[in-house]
Amino acid sequence: MAKFFFRYGSMNSGKSTMLIQVAHNYSETGQRAIIIKPSIDTKEKGIHSRIGISKPVDIYISENDDIAKRIKDFYSKEHFDAIMVDEVQFLTPKQVEDLYKITIEMSVPVMAYGLRTDFRGQSFPGAARALDLANVIEEIRTKCTLCSKKADHNSRRRNGEFEKNGNQIVIDDGTTVEYVPLCSSHFLEKVGF
Ligand SMILES: [Zn+2]
Repeated sequence: MAKFFFRYGSMNSGKSTMLIQVAHNYSETGQRAIIIKPSIDTKEKGIHSRIGISKPVDIYISENDDIAKRIKDFYSKEHFDAIMVDEVQFLTPKQVEDLYKITIEMSVPVMAYGLRTDFRGQSFPGAARALDLANVIEEIRTKCTLCSKKADHNSRRRNGEFEKNGNQIVIDDGTTVEYVPLCSSHFLEKVGF
């Protein structure tokens, strides 16, 4: 039986690098892994990893898209063996449910990569549904930016200051925004709740 994998990690944990590597592994054995990405995150087209490799996206999904239909339409034109999802936290819970059904109905493994929580330590709705449903949940580990202990949280700095409030998805207003992975101690110290 095909499985739904949820591989979560903090910002900068190498999720995109891993996704690109896994897609590449499929192509090396003559198989095809398609790449899906929510269209909310389209600063740059394609998937770009911090170590400088990139890969095109096959299907961009918007908030109102019927993800199952989009995938089945694609499959009717081009066969594939696996589905990779980047930034799964930005899909709606219903879209994650539909992806889970696709895994079983089409017998195609789905590997979803994303963040578990936002900069306040609160779940993204899509990630919460992925955690509910995934057959396999794996953590991609990274280090706290401030002390190099294991990072368990994401935080957000705007013009150098840690943010405690604000929209879950940042709106580009000209300020400098950076995401910073933090260990539990530093998250409580700098952001807290
Ligand atoms: Zn730390």
